[in-house]
Formats: sequence, C-alpha cells, structure tokens
Amino acid sequence: MPELPEVQALADFLRERTDGLVVTGVELGSISVLKTFTPPPQALVGAPVDGVARHGKFLDLDCGGTHLVFHLARAGWLRWSDAMPATVLRPGKSPIALRVRFDDASGFDLTEAGTKKRLAAYIVGDPGLVPGIASLGPDPMADEFTLAVFAAIAASHRMQVKGMLRDQSIIAGVGNAYSDEVLHVAKLSPFALAATLGPPEVERLYEALRATLAGAVATASGKPAKELKDAKRAGMRVHGRTGETCPECGDVVREVSFADSSLQYCATCQTGGKPLADRRTSKFLK
Ligand SMILES: [Zn+2]
Repeated sequence: MPELPEVQALADFLRERTDGLVVTGVELGSISVLKTFTPPPQALVGAPVDGVARHGKFLDLDCGGTHLVFHLARAGWLRWSDAMPATVLRPGKSPIALRVRFDDASGFDLTEAGTKKRLAAYIVGDPGLVPGIASLGPDPMADEFTLAVFAAIAASHRMQVKGMLRDQSIIAGVGNAYSDEVLHVAKLSPFALAATLGPPEVERLYEALRATLAGAVATASGKPAKELKDAKRAGMRVHGRTGETCPECGDVVREVSFADSSLQYCATCQTGGKPLADRRTSKFLK
C-alpha cells in the first residue's frame, strides 16, 4: 500500500504532468469504486486541473473547484500514460477501476490487483466532505507537527505504539510499512504502550518518524509513478524482510503475523533481545 511518501510523490508527479491540462474524460471500469453520486463524473469534463494535493494517503485533483479524490488502498495503483488508449473503458472485470483523460491525450488509470476491492474514489465540491479526510489526524510532515504536539498525542493514547502510528485519525499518512521502519529506527517495541513512554522515548520516536518519512519522501520525489513501488520496497530496513539480517545489529529480522497483516522488527534492537509472541508460530511450537 502506498503511504505518505509514495502518495506525496504521486501528488508531485501528477501536479507536474497535469499542469495546464483540461480533463476530457472520466471513465469507470468498476461502478463500486466511486463512492459519491453527485456531482457525476461528467462534472469534471472540460475542467482545468487547478492543483493536486495530498491529505494523509488520499490524492486530490482540484478540477475547476470540483475535486476528484481517491485512496489507493492496499492493492491499488496509479498508472500514468502519455498516450492513453482510445478505447473507452467499460464496467467489467478489468483491473482498471477508473480512467481519467486529459486534452493532450495523456491520462491515468487507477488499477486494483487484489480481490478485496478497497480502492475508493470520490467526486466532491470540498475534499473535507470525504469521511476519511474529515477524520484525519495531523500530518506528521507539517511544520506544526512539533515534538510537543506529538508528545501530547502519545500521552493521550493508552494503546500499542504500532497501532497509534497507523491510525489515520491519530496521525495521517503512516501505514504498516513505515510504522515498522519508524519503530526500528526509534528502537522501540511495536507493542509498547504509547502513553507509558518516557520523554526520551517519545523524542526518539518523534525524531524517527520525521526523519524516516522525510528520507522516504526525498527518495520517492521525482520518480515516475511506475518506479515508486520498487523504490519503497528497496528502501525498507525491516519491513517485509522477515528472516533477513538487521542492518543495525546483524540479528535476524522477525515477524509477528495477524489475520491479514504482519509486522517485522528486530528483537536485539527493539525488544531487549526477547522475541515477541507470535500466535501463529507459538501454535506450531506447542
Ligand atoms: Zn537489530
């Protein structure tokens, strides 16, 4: 799933590519991808792209005051083309959920690979009308997101720090991958309770959050949409690297799996050398 750095890079990429262009077509490959009824997709046709913004993991194309907002979810992606195929997209079993065309023949497709269709698009007069945007917590890359702001957030959440980092209503834009990375940099257990962290830990976590995201934004920035996924994967220290070697200490990267996700961490760096309980492996050990 693209997270803040990739979505920021996609926003920057789209802003640059669509500057001065006019929308000439919006086609739906999947009716269920569009979560709003009015205005209709045709409302975007003929409108100039006035801006592209990111809200958490949402992308927002301002087309003459009507906003096309979308969230790529776990298996969604954006595919840009300088020369879109002429064939009109029709609802069906295509992995293409939504197609947007511009007046220079360029455009993009939103594709979704997974079986769980979670990619969501909205056409609204105000992005704040999208429920997932209205409920977003503060953006961790904003200037206003100071150590004091973060410390207050941590102090008021008696929950596992991994869950706090991922909760979009608490902090916007961080998901499963970057929360693993941030916790590894901060040398904190994903299961530590946010509210019980001492000031040095809170500061370490804050610095790790800002530095990890800033580094990933810098890496992703300027890359074309099609290269972002691989760049994200290549930049990971522990996330998705179960069984590989921790780049900090040489210990093996371990995993805890859940029903539909897993987290990766280094026991030596993050949990005092003690592996975390993993229901799946514990079952095998019994
Ligand atoms: Zn380590």
